[in-house]
Amino acid sequence: MVMPSIDNLIPSLRENGVVGAGGAGFPTYAKLKPPIEYLIINAAECEPLLHKDKELLKRYGAEVLEGMKQVRSFLGAGEAILGIKGKYHDIIDALTPLLEPGMRIHPLGDFYPTGDEFVLIYETIGRVVPPGGLPFQVGALVMNVETVLNLVWNRPVTHKYLTVAGAVNDPQTVRVPIGISLREVIEACGGAAVDPYEVITGGVMMGRYIQNLDDPVTKTTGGILVFPPGHPVIERYRKTPDEINRIGRSACDQCSFCTELCPRYLLGHPIEPHRAMRSLGFSVDRTAHVLGTLFCCECNLCTMIACPEALDPKNVCAMNKAELRSQKAVYPESGLHRPVHSMREGRQTPLSRLIRILGLHIYENKGPYTEMNWNPARLVIPLKQHAGAPATPVVSVGTRVREGDVLARVDETQLGASIHASMDGVVSQITDKAIEIERG
Ligand code: SF4
Ligand code: SF4
Repeated sequence: MVMPSIDNLIPSLRENGVVGAGGAGFPTYAKLKPPIEYLIINAAECEPLLHKDKELLKRYGAEVLEGMKQVRSFLGAGEAILGIKGKYHDIIDALTPLLEPGMRIHPLGDFYPTGDEFVLIYETIGRVVPPGGLPFQVGALVMNVETVLNLVWNRPVTHKYLTVAGAVNDPQTVRVPIGISLREVIEACGGAAVDPYEVITGGVMMGRYIQNLDDPVTKTTGGILVFPPGHPVIERYRKTPDEINRIGRSACDQCSFCTELCPRYLLGHPIEPHRAMRSLGFSVDRTAHVLGTLFCCECNLCTMIACPEALDPKNVCAMNKAELRSQKAVYPESGLHRPVHSMREGRQTPLSRLIRILGLHIYENKGPYTEMNWNPARLVIPLKQHAGAPATPVVSVGTRVREGDVLARVDETQLGASIHASMDGVVSQITDKAIEIERG
C-alpha cells in the first residue's frame, strides 16, 4: 500500500478529525512537534478483556509500521518503538521482518498498567517523566495504534474500533460508526448474557460507568464491558463521593498497601494515596497530605487491587487533585524528585492477578475481529470528542450528508478537531452537544 508522506498529511489531520484514540482525544496535529528522540507506539493494552490493539496489529500491522516510519522521520526521532506485550509472539514474529533501521519492537511484561504513558516510557527507554511533566521532557512522544492508523489512512475519522466483552454472548472486536448507541453495539454482539445488565466503557480499571445505554460511541471509546448488577467492578463505580469519604475515614487502617503498589509512586513520583486517605480524618494540615495527589494518573490500582478494606483511595486522590488544580496548587520543589523504587520490579501487578481479584476470569478473555455491516436508523455525533474546544456545526437541520462529510469544525485559533458524518443521511437535530443524523 502506497501512502502519502506525512508532510502532506499533517495539514489534513485537523480536518480529518484525527485525535488520540486511546485516551483524552488530544488532537494529533498538535502533538506532532519535532524534534523528538523517541517515538513510542502504545500497543500495551493492559486493561483486562480488551483486544482492539492486538487485533488491529494482526490485520494492519504493516500499515502501523509504515505510520511509525513516517512519523519517526517527521519528528526526526532516532528510534521508533512498538511497545507490545511479549506474550503476543505471533504478532511480534510477523512484524519483526518488516522493521526498518531505527525501528524496534519492545516486548512488555503482562502487568497493569504497562499502557500508562509514564510506565511505558520507563519500560521502553528507561527514562522517568518528571512528576506533573509531559513525555516530551524526556524526549518521547507516545501514540496509540489506532491513532497511527487514522493518520496513515488519511481520511475522515468516521468509525471506531472497540472490543465488546464481559457478560455478552459473543465477545469480539468490531468497527462501528461513531455516534451509534452502546445498546446497538451490544445487541450486535449477541446481546447481554444477563438480564438486567450494566455497562462500563473504556476499560474495567479506568472506564466510565454508563447510566444511559443510548449514549453514543465516540472517537475515544475503546471498549464496551457488560456486567450483571452487583458485580464487584460495578459496585466500585457506583459509590458516591459521600460514601467514599465517610467509609474511608472510618475504615482506613493506614496499612499503606495502596501506596506500596502505586505505579507512579514506584516510579519515584511523590504520590502517596494512604496519606490522602489519612487526610480524611484530619482537620489540620490537610494540604500537606494531599498535595501528592496532583500526580495521580487515576489508574485505579490502589482501589481495585491494593486496598484490603475495599476502600477507594483512587477516587479520594481524584477528588483532591481536582480541588488542588482549581486552587492552582503547586508541589514544593524539594521532595519532588525521588529515585525509582528499588522494589519496583517485584511489586508490579500481573494482569492474571487483576483478572482473578476482580472476578473477570469467568468471562471469555478474547475479542476476535469481526467485520460487521451496520445499519443504524439514527446516529448522535457529539461535538466534543477531543481535548480542546467543542466543534461548531457547519450544517443545518435538513442538510443531506454523505459519510465522511464535515459536520462541525473548531476555529483555527483553538485546539480541536473536525467532526464528520459516519453514514449517509439527513441532519435531523442539532443541539449544543451533538448533531443527529437519520438514515434516509
Ligand atoms: S490500602 Fe486501604 S486501608 Fe490501607 S492505607 Fe490504603 S486505603 Fe487505607
Ligand atoms: S489511582 Fe492509585 S495507584 Fe493509580 S496513580 Fe493514583 S494513587 Fe497511584
